[in-house]
Amino acid sequence: MSKKLRHLLGISGGKDSAALAMYLHNKYPELYIEYYFCDTGKELDETYNFLNELQAYLGKEIIRLRAAKNSHKDPFDYFLSKYDNFLPSANARWCTKNLKLEPFEEFVGNDAAISYVAIRGDEKREGYISTKPNIQSIFPFRRNIWSMEILNKVLHNENIKRIAEIYKNMAPKEKTERILEVVLEPKSEKNPFSKKLNLLLDLGISIFNHVVFEFLKNTNYPLALAENFPLVSNEDVFFIDDIFGLFKKYGVSIPKYYNEVEFEVDGKKGKYSRSRSGCYFCFFQQKIEWIWLYEQHANLFKKAMKYEKNGYTWNEDESLADIIKPERIQKIKEDYLRKSKNNATALKSDKLIDILADDTVLSCVNCFI
Ligand code: SF4
Repeated sequence: MSKKLRHLLGISGGKDSAALAMYLHNKYPELYIEYYFCDTGKELDETYNFLNELQAYLGKEIIRLRAAKNSHKDPFDYFLSKYDNFLPSANARWCTKNLKLEPFEEFVGNDAAISYVAIRGDEKREGYISTKPNIQSIFPFRRNIWSMEILNKVLHNENIKRIAEIYKNMAPKEKTERILEVVLEPKSEKNPFSKKLNLLLDLGISIFNHVVFEFLKNTNYPLALAENFPLVSNEDVFFIDDIFGLFKKYGVSIPKYYNEVEFEVDGKKGKYSRSRSGCYFCFFQQKIEWIWLYEQHANLFKKAMKYEKNGYTWNEDESLADIIKPERIQKIKEDYLRKSKNNATALKSDKLIDILADDTVLSCVNCFI
């Protein structure tokens, strides 16, 4: 393993990045991984407690990165003042940029680094792909561990000959003919990128990974600095249930904010929780999560309300003062009960965490994985 290459894993305070940390820690103890957490100063106590527990399990510091280090204010409050109290939103996400991405990129500097990202095999999102050429993302929980940028290069028609040559040296004899057939057929409308990629993965995930690793040796990507990379032989794929399995296997509890709490509305019973880590006032949370915050962490809800001034609100369509009117709470709970029933059928899962973390709901991968 090259000493010049850093291995980094961002802990968000959520279950997936924690599971990835535990998994890599156990499966690849030879990787010297630096764990970090970008602290906005506005996470739930449950998240901070969980970080301490995880750190104890890993036996290694989770480095806390804070933006605006020299300010006496929390990083979020410091930038809020700079933005004239203009609250961030899905369309103006200055918080992610200033509080998560920039501290991370400063931490890496100009070092060549692999950034391990905990996107699961059942998720469609791609995650944070650094625009900095010295940072390369790897996705160990997916069947395809490579970023789109790398795959576009590997499967580009102009690299067909090079990839075929590498495969000839690496593919098992019984598969070579079929693999070369797939490799040599150029990408086209009839043979799109996704089809070609899936066929090659079907013919052997580990062989494909070894081929990509070999291809990268003649590039400027960070992984070119590694003499070997154990993850190329890994064929594990993790879906949501497997993540809970990892927590069980390693004897670590999931963050407490995931714990389901019962509520009753109009004689009907339901359960709610928070579905993700992140700031307690995050604008990505669903209405039912705001009600959870109001009923389970009234002090934090009040603090979130104080940020709403000069016409700025966390939700586009209503203020927090409106959300907690009794008739509105009742409506949100009823809508949520109806939606959870429909989602449970569509997602074939009755786990609250699946229902609340519905992928169709906008979210921020840098904060929640
Ligand atoms: S958790 Fe939400 S509010 Fe906090 S930095 Fe991330 S996107 Fe912004």
